[in-house]
Amino acid sequence: MNIENDIKLDYSSVLLRPKRSTLGSRKEVKLTRRHIFRNYKPNLVNIQREYDFGGVPIMASNMDGVGTFTMAEELGKLGLFTCLVKTYSIKELVEFFNTSTIAREHVAYSMGITDNDASKFRAVYAGSNSIKYVCIDVANGYSERFLNYVASIREEYPNVVIIAGNVVTSDQTQELLLRGADIIKVGIGPGSVCTTRIQTGVGYPQLSSVIECADAAHGLGGHIIADGGCTCPGDVAKAFAGGADFVMLGGMLAGHDEGGGEIITKTYKTDQVKIKEEVVDTEYPKVLEYNPVYEEKHFIQFYGMSSDAANTKHFGGLKDYRASEGREVLVPYRGPIANTIQDMLGGLRSACTYVGAEKLKHLPKCTTFIRCQDTHNRVYE
Ligand code: 5GP
Repeated sequence: MNIENDIKLDYSSVLLRPKRSTLGSRKEVKLTRRHIFRNYKPNLVNIQREYDFGGVPIMASNMDGVGTFTMAEELGKLGLFTCLVKTYSIKELVEFFNTSTIAREHVAYSMGITDNDASKFRAVYAGSNSIKYVCIDVANGYSERFLNYVASIREEYPNVVIIAGNVVTSDQTQELLLRGADIIKVGIGPGSVCTTRIQTGVGYPQLSSVIECADAAHGLGGHIIADGGCTCPGDVAKAFAGGADFVMLGGMLAGHDEGGGEIITKTYKTDQVKIKEEVVDTEYPKVLEYNPVYEEKHFIQFYGMSSDAANTKHFGGLKDYRASEGREVLVPYRGPIANTIQDMLGGLRSACTYVGAEKLKHLPKCTTFIRCQDTHNRVYE
């Protein structure tokens, strides 16, 4: 048994220290990035390879209510990226990849590591012939079987960008890159609807795993995604500041029209009242009667992809040797995603301005993290 005594950090353990800068306004900050991937071999004939990815490096997670076609279309228009849920049919996927104008550059096909997953991918790839990104993800990216699977997909498809995960340590980040992955998905247990840390005791503080895995990946020309644990735009800024090339979001993008869930309305009694009628009484000159005021609130269901809810919906229930590692919640309905994205990108631009980063790319080198006990005032929360 070993004990690591180094302090490991979460987004909630730090703040970004403001610095002097010459930036005039947050409008000047550039949030788009360009990346060339390590193992991807594009089929280019007589075209110079300038860059493989160009866009705002924020990704919608491949979760129900988040990684939908509609979300992909909307985020793609805004320059962001989506990893699709694994549960679309071959027909739906072929049609999407054949017709969507943003699919090739802004969408990843997602798959697991069973033989069925491999044959489904073969069918969709052959049918659409425009898939550039594939996300191979499992809850535990530490198995030999997973590594071999990633290597076999790399061998069969040299011209797809492989996103692989999830891991949290530098050794496995490097191993996956050496086996052929391009972008490593980093995060075990930080997710908003994840219960892995409670069920198993396994995990790694997310900011530290981002910092360590980014450092390991960048040394090999690889890239990483900080996946899970962002609760607000400030956390997204901290993930980029820690070296993440991409940030993947589930909960922060849940509850929107584009996620496709059913809107659930609940009625709550408020602490306000309204006058019902004036009662004239001989004994008391005027008596007022009051009615309580009720208000409606709207919600959308959101759940972890290994929760009971997801297993029941997609696989008819949990297998008897498995335990649920996700929870099910109702998140407030938030309307169209564009408003949320605008708010988030505004926060990110502002973070860059505070530390003097003209481009998102410069955020890590402009960052000094300050360790703290408490990041913000919660008096009105
Ligand atoms: P969030 O942005 O909501 O904090 O985290 C999203 C991430 O949580 C996803 O991208 C995925 O990696 C992870 N996740 C999604 N569903 C589950 C689940 O049921 N269990 C666990 N352990 N992680 C999940």
